[in-house]
Amino acid sequence: MVGRSQSSHVQAGKTSLYTTIKARLYPTAEQAELFEKTFGCCRFIWNRMLSDQQKFYDETGAHFIPTPAKYKDGAPFLKEVDNQALIQTHNQLSQAFRIFFKNPEHFGHPRFKRKKDGRDAFTACNHVFSSGPTIYLTRDGIRMTKAGVVKAKFPRRPRNGWKLKRITVSKTRTGTYNCSIVFEYPAPAPQPIPPTPERTIGLKYSVSHFYVADNGAMADPPHWLKLTQEKLARLQQRMARMTPGSRNYEEAVQKYRLLHEHIANQRRDYIHKESRRIANAWDAVCVRADDLADGNRAMKLSNGLELGFGMFRACLDYKLSRQGKSLLMVERCAPTSRQCHSCGYLLPEGVDYRREQWRCPACGAALQREINAAQNIKTAGLRQVLTTQKSA
Ligand SMILES: [Zn+2]
Repeated sequence: MVGRSQSSHVQAGKTSLYTTIKARLYPTAEQAELFEKTFGCCRFIWNRMLSDQQKFYDETGAHFIPTPAKYKDGAPFLKEVDNQALIQTHNQLSQAFRIFFKNPEHFGHPRFKRKKDGRDAFTACNHVFSSGPTIYLTRDGIRMTKAGVVKAKFPRRPRNGWKLKRITVSKTRTGTYNCSIVFEYPAPAPQPIPPTPERTIGLKYSVSHFYVADNGAMADPPHWLKLTQEKLARLQQRMARMTPGSRNYEEAVQKYRLLHEHIANQRRDYIHKESRRIANAWDAVCVRADDLADGNRAMKLSNGLELGFGMFRACLDYKLSRQGKSLLMVERCAPTSRQCHSCGYLLPEGVDYRREQWRCPACGAALQREINAAQNIKTAGLRQVLTTQKSA
């Protein structure tokens, strides 16, 4: 688990790449003892969190991992080691569960750690305070939070502008200490890709399908999301019959909160995956600017995914722009739903255009409401690009 996810990572609007420098460490006897203690504490806390997760899951059916702080009173020796290492153990266990939930057959359930497995390691993140960073390189060593400066041999040095993000200290079976240091550096700006009609997709937000595309594709939200949503609704009904303040009620509230959080995680995963798929497959994506407001209105009626459409759009935006592609926002008052995409005929105000299907009175085209709207969104988005190109 330790230090595996280092290839590239994106935050909204900015792009960074990551690289690792591996170094041999030469700790003093005292520093080595501290490392051993830290390895032990990380193993201890991993196992405790894992067994509590299992207990909680057996009792409630919901996934939850307590934070390391919860264990410190019962196990004061945890306070002797770098707290960062414990926090990172929590992150690693959470990540192990995330990939397990995504692909249980391939990754397997997180396992307990035994000392004899011989995979001793801990990770700590660098924090930059006004007084300076908590972890930094010196000429012939590396400064860490509790250990101080540990002697090290570097095969190469970081370049100017590289930021030290985190360090993983490990021990081999033969007793050698190593570390890998992860650095972040800015990625070069991508070449802009001009949108063409063939490589552009229009997406219409849809209450029942999450979105409908101009080519008729729909993103039907996954089945499990609906299942957990139903579980949440049942729990809510049960709570309505309980006495507020009673023990049962308090337990149900806690369960409700956890399940709610679990659904939010599922939704986030789904949104990231779906936006990644779209951003890789197309050069430009057209969406309406007002879908969010519609979504909030329908929020209580439907499956909760509309809450995520704003996030979906934000994900698309940075995943596209990272590749030099564009998200084209169509103005909110454009009449995309009541216009025929084929001839441009506009249904007069007052006519019910919310039907699933209608036939254009002007050209006779048979129109699926949401697909037709997505087609109009695509046309309008591409038109925006052409006008800015002409005026430029
Ligand atoms: Zn028409």
